Amino acid sequence: MIGGNSTMNYDHLIIGAGSAGAVLAARLSEDPQKSILLIEAGPDFTSIDALPPEIKYAWFYDSSGNLGVKTDSYNWGFMGKATDEAPNIEVPRGKIIGGSSSTNAQGFIRGIPEDFDEWVSLGNDTWTYKNVLKYYKKLETDLDIKDEFHGSTGPIIARRFKKSEWTNISQDFYNSCISLGFTDSIDINNPESTGVGALPFNNPDRIRWSTSIGYLNDIRDRKNLTILSNCHAKKILFKDSVAIGAECEIEGTDYIFESKNVILSAGAICSPQLLMLSGIGPSDHLANFGIETLYNSPSVGKNLRDHPRIPLVWNSINQIELQKNQSPMQVVLRYTSKNSSFRNDIYIIVGAVSTDQTVRMGVGLYKAISAGSINLNTDDPYSQPVINYNYFSDDFDLKRTREAVRVSCEIASDTEFINVDGYPVGMSADILFDDHALDLWMKTNVDTFHHISGTCKMGSFDDTSSVVDQFGKVHGLSNIRVVDASIMPDCIRANTNATVIMMAEKIADDIKNGY
Ligand SMILES: Cc1cc2nc3c(=O)[nH]c(=O)nc-3n(C[C@H](O)[C@H](O)[C@H](O)COP(=O)(O)OP(=O)(O)OC[C@H]3O[C@@H](n4cnc5c(N)ncnc54)[C@H](O)[C@@H]3O)c2cc1C
Repeated sequence: MIGGNSTMNYDHLIIGAGSAGAVLAARLSEDPQKSILLIEAGPDFTSIDALPPEIKYAWFYDSSGNLGVKTDSYNWGFMGKATDEAPNIEVPRGKIIGGSSSTNAQGFIRGIPEDFDEWVSLGNDTWTYKNVLKYYKKLETDLDIKDEFHGSTGPIIARRFKKSEWTNISQDFYNSCISLGFTDSIDINNPESTGVGALPFNNPDRIRWSTSIGYLNDIRDRKNLTILSNCHAKKILFKDSVAIGAECEIEGTDYIFESKNVILSAGAICSPQLLMLSGIGPSDHLANFGIETLYNSPSVGKNLRDHPRIPLVWNSINQIELQKNQSPMQVVLRYTSKNSSFRNDIYIIVGAVSTDQTVRMGVGLYKAISAGSINLNTDDPYSQPVINYNYFSDDFDLKRTREAVRVSCEIASDTEFINVDGYPVGMSADILFDDHALDLWMKTNVDTFHHISGTCKMGSFDDTSSVVDQFGKVHGLSNIRVVDASIMPDCIRANTNATVIMMAEKIADDIKNGY
């Protein structure tokens, strides 16, 4: 029983039970000699049956007819700034066991080899594609594809919708893309893949297969693993420059948990915030909030990477009728922009929404150059930090996204796309074909694909833009790591969940191997 103020000394204290934290807890507790404490700010649900329906199942619609990719409950409910022109945007993040893997849209895509070539070139030589492929395979059970690139015994189950299950909108989108010359992609997770095809989803039988389900549910009875929910970490504690635990709050009472090692897995918003609240960050910024600097790490919270999303909406000509529980999203297109050296830098997903009879496309820039930041707003650990995406500050980002919006409109106006006609809502020829006008339209309408990452970048000690080394160890300090989306040097050209899980699998092995 845990009492107030002080507790037993663990081998590993993991803060945040999300895509990364749950995996680390599961893998590190495989060694019965190691004691693990996993703490999570949100609630715990210990079996699939205990999950609230909106967490258990995919494809809920909210009252405004939006696709069910977020849940209003179990959400940190942050707000962020996208551009100077856009109204503040919603930044949902899962606050529940499983973290954002318990609330996300379940698109299950891997980064491509070039992403990891770049990580290696930035001083992270254990992150070769060959090495990460091992962990991508380890984490999955792919129900459809059995080959050298896929796993069949991993904790996360992935599947694709067969063509016979596609909506008429998915079919139209696919046919248009093929008619416009894009490649047919049989397996989007094949390293060479590009073009249009069925998106893999980690939702067998429509169950959102989170890291909580995949990694924790079967091992909860391990004697060396303690999971504490509704437990908010406020500060990491240090003796000199050595991490020794964390100060946390449960239902209004403060506790100190001591541990030989602290692993921060609170996600790309809360991990840099917690580091800064604990005195690790740019010293001038910390001083503004009266926080004493423990270690001046100027890049904490910098290098915010993400995939800006332009939402396009068409009113459907024909009735959209989804069968009960049919997924509104099934098919995606990836291609390389004109004159871009970044392969697969554009991602377009199509959706059919029956509640308001609309066809929607999310147009995403997968390899944005513009970077944003996380800064403190106050020293209050319950108050959200300032999230500034700084989208489209780079002209190349604007140019490629403009082209992608025009490609999307071309796909929709192709004769194969029989269910829509004309321009998206709020768009006209005057806007679409005028660079200036389209830039302004995009800057005003942009929101996020929810792939925030990079805010505690990994790299070598000499690289002052980095915060942690390639094993997640925080530069300049001992016994503390960050392992979550925040340590990606750049956001991979894929939705981020599968890659965060892969990263946690790899670093769990690194820890076991003494790194
Ligand atoms: C709405 C939405 C849709 C998405 N759709 C997709 C998709 O379709 N495909 C895809 O691949 N990716 C998707 N993503 C992104 C993906 O889910 C995330 O990149 C990934 O889950 C991030 O993992 P993480 O471990 O870094 O953080 P999280 O999974 O967010 O985990 C962080 C955990 O830390 C906890 N925490 C934070 N602060 C504290 C604190 N102070 N004390 C204690 N606990 C704390 C949080 O509650 C959370 O459980 C989506 C994300 C969202 C929000």
